[in-house]
Amino acid sequence: MEFWTECDIHCGHDAVVGIENKRMNLTVARALLDRMRGFCTAWGVGTLDLLLPRSCALCSVETYGAGLVCSECFARLRMIVAPCCDRCGVPLASAAFSGRTLQCVSCEQRPPVWDRARAAFVYDDISRQLILPLKYADRTELAPALATIMVRAGAALLSETDLIVPVPVHWRRRVERRYNQAALLSRSVARLSGGTLMVDALHRSAATPKLAHLSAAERAKVMADAIRVSPKARSALNGKRVLLIDDVLTTGATASACATVMRKSGAISVMVLAAARTEAPEREDTDRFWEENTPVRNDLSKDALK
Ligand SMILES: [Zn+2]
Ligand SMILES: [Zn+2]
Repeated sequence: MEFWTECDIHCGHDAVVGIENKRMNLTVARALLDRMRGFCTAWGVGTLDLLLPRSCALCSVETYGAGLVCSECFARLRMIVAPCCDRCGVPLASAAFSGRTLQCVSCEQRPPVWDRARAAFVYDDISRQLILPLKYADRTELAPALATIMVRAGAALLSETDLIVPVPVHWRRRVERRYNQAALLSRSVARLSGGTLMVDALHRSAATPKLAHLSAAERAKVMADAIRVSPKARSALNGKRVLLIDDVLTTGATASACATVMRKSGAISVMVLAAARTEAPEREDTDRFWEENTPVRNDLSKDALK
């Protein structure tokens, strides 16, 4: 039994979660119950939380809360802790790999469009099993659990944030999934941190094709025209320090597109907080595209971060 087969947005990796037994065994039953719970949570119905046992989001052993992982699975997750690049949040093997500015070589040579980024986990085979169910399989109970760890990972960013904004999805995709997973994460991040949320500040005006098989530069081109600031958000963004929330940070093409349009609307800085990020930045081609196609870059960020 397979719930999904491929990550069609971010990486194209095989995303089948380890449910190979075609019989209706306990693991499958628990997964289905969690899926039902997620569906109900998305529609504001919390009754199942009172009636059904809660299980580890990764291995299905019983846990104390929906969306949590057991201690064994938690140890398998690769949390991003210091040392990491102060700019993009990529984990570094040693502080010796950061330069004088505490940034990775990639950021020193080619700074990203956004100001700073942090993520809770490395995006790998384990964290993928937390992110993809939230994204594709109605496991919306994972959003508050992930947000709890995101808030810790992004504490420094949140202390400099005026406005929390989720990465938008196209309305057609939102209808298919019934929710925007970045919006769910941003709601929980705002609630936990006491921050101000503007959930509809951005919208995706074009349905982007599957990005998995595109190069970083091609992804950037696709995203460039897809993101818009909603009319009512234009004045709200002016002079604000914005924290953009997404589930996964890979090439940064989407974050760069969002940062660019928000800067044009007057945002003085745009930071990014994701549940997970890829270990190695793939930004080189992406950033070259943005350098060639937009005059709005990091001039404002230096003052904003002082
Ligand atoms: Zn577990
Ligand atoms: Zn970096």
